[in-house]
Amino acid sequence: MCGIIASLSYSDNVSKDLISALERLEYRGYDSAGVAYLDDNSSLKRIRTVGKVQHLKEVLEKQHIKAHTGIGHTRWATHGKVTESNAHPHTADGVAIVHNGIIENYQELKKQLVNEGYIFESETDTEVIAKLIASHIKTGEQFFEAFQKSISELVGTFAIVAIYEKEPDILLGAKKGSPMAVGLSPDKQSGYIASDAVALSTLANELAYLEEGDIVVVRKGRQLSYEIFESNGQSIRRETVPNKVSLDDVSKKGYDSFMLKEIFEEATVARRTYEKFNYDIDISEFDNISIIACGTSYYAGAVAKYWIEDIAKIHVDVEIASEFRYRNPVFAKNSLYIFISQSGETIDTLCAMRLVKEAGIKTLALVNVDTSSIAREADFVLKTEAGVEIGVASTKAFVAQILSLLMLCYKNIDIKAVELSINAVLNGNYDFTRLANKIKNSRSLFYIGRGVSYPIALEGALKIKELSYISAEGYPAGEIKHGPIAIIDENVYTMALAPYDKYFDKTISNTQEILARNGKILLITTSDAKDLLHGIDKNDNVECVFLPPNSPLYLPFSLTTFIHLLAYYTANAKGHDVDKPRNLAKSVTVE
Ligand code: GLU
Repeated sequence: MCGIIASLSYSDNVSKDLISALERLEYRGYDSAGVAYLDDNSSLKRIRTVGKVQHLKEVLEKQHIKAHTGIGHTRWATHGKVTESNAHPHTADGVAIVHNGIIENYQELKKQLVNEGYIFESETDTEVIAKLIASHIKTGEQFFEAFQKSISELVGTFAIVAIYEKEPDILLGAKKGSPMAVGLSPDKQSGYIASDAVALSTLANELAYLEEGDIVVVRKGRQLSYEIFESNGQSIRRETVPNKVSLDDVSKKGYDSFMLKEIFEEATVARRTYEKFNYDIDISEFDNISIIACGTSYYAGAVAKYWIEDIAKIHVDVEIASEFRYRNPVFAKNSLYIFISQSGETIDTLCAMRLVKEAGIKTLALVNVDTSSIAREADFVLKTEAGVEIGVASTKAFVAQILSLLMLCYKNIDIKAVELSINAVLNGNYDFTRLANKIKNSRSLFYIGRGVSYPIALEGALKIKELSYISAEGYPAGEIKHGPIAIIDENVYTMALAPYDKYFDKTISNTQEILARNGKILLITTSDAKDLLHGIDKNDNVECVFLPPNSPLYLPFSLTTFIHLLAYYTANAKGHDVDKPRNLAKSVTVE
């Protein structure tokens, strides 16, 4: 959440780099955006706009900016509404900063700074950082010392970058909880600090990732260079790694959205995840497995619970990271804790993992970014091979996660069957536009399923909520009668996931209960169940979709691709931006 970019260059064209990086960072937040730069006279200028980066770009292009030093930000608001005055960068006496995270003691600091005479112009927690640095400079500190001191006074999580008009040849960055990378352009003419490798995909070939508490200085002397300091002030070398994100990864390749492109990559991603699967821990050594994650990753864990218990016969718990980390969990003996996060930066999952590590228990990270904080801190890492995922609603990463989890407990995967399941949906003749138009005006939606189809139902409902803004719930099909059935009437559509497996008859009975209450059903089943529907398909309130039959083990893959496409088409039918759904952002680095 929130995208950060900073650039220092011998050329006076940093605004071009800032805007191109912000365009790529937009998936991390898109309610407002802004830049601050030092102009020809080294005087600080700031431009902020509400709305998407494109808007900022248009404003910037008209200004013909010449600057060697600048910072930029795409915001996902936590404190303060989406307004220009709350947009970053925030400034004070020639200092400008951008921030990702939350400053928990901002009220206290604000009081102190107001007493010193500072006037605040925003409602954000962020603005105190700029004023705090300025206040330390006022007492005679150099920019670096003032920055260092300010950082030590902040409570919360952050990635912060600052520039100062009286010291135009340096960028300062600090990381605690939120990700931050630093790199130089291949010709060493520009230096950058950014939230992620995606931002720097065309700008820097090699990156160093800051560790917790690090401060980085990018300097322009006779040469451009950077230096990283640990929290104790000691200079430290952090390993550099190639920036593997290519331009290709961050382009839509002819699709109308990243989301659609990413759904169409699901079969390729499954194949790549299968081929590159490289894992040397034997889960049968453990008596318990706990899977901890948030959002879609949590549902991947919920799918895996069915598989691991069924196949490996190991007890599995699945927990929401934000709940786990704040209760006092009791750790079962001989447990493996698996932490799932696409970005590897999800703050709740990261903090939950630290809690488990402190207890001396083995941790396994299942992440899509191997340079991420969760990957770097875990005992074992299993990388999903989803490639860069830009659509805010996770799709292909979910496929890679469930396949990886299946591979943990089942060694004889028929990857061709997995690919065929997915491709049958991608290339099948399903009229998603018509289906989407049927469900898009429902007052609310249900997704129901039993067995492993239940967590897929949860994922289906989440995707609908995220993209179509229709209230949607995923429910175990057998549980509907214990309450939710009260909601059912002719304005409610239920998507019943009922492939032909051992739960089929039970789920069909549950759809009958819904039909008896005038509810509408989209029955998503498999063609081998065609003759077993007991006439349900003749009911005017039922629409049937037949997926290809498959081994029960691989059915979740075709169901997943189906529900992803249905979510995409429903959001499209409602005229929503599928890549930038309202109120959301990718890579949740705030609590
Ligand atoms: N707390 C800051 C704000 O509201 C940054 C939010 C974030 O990083 O998501 O502007």
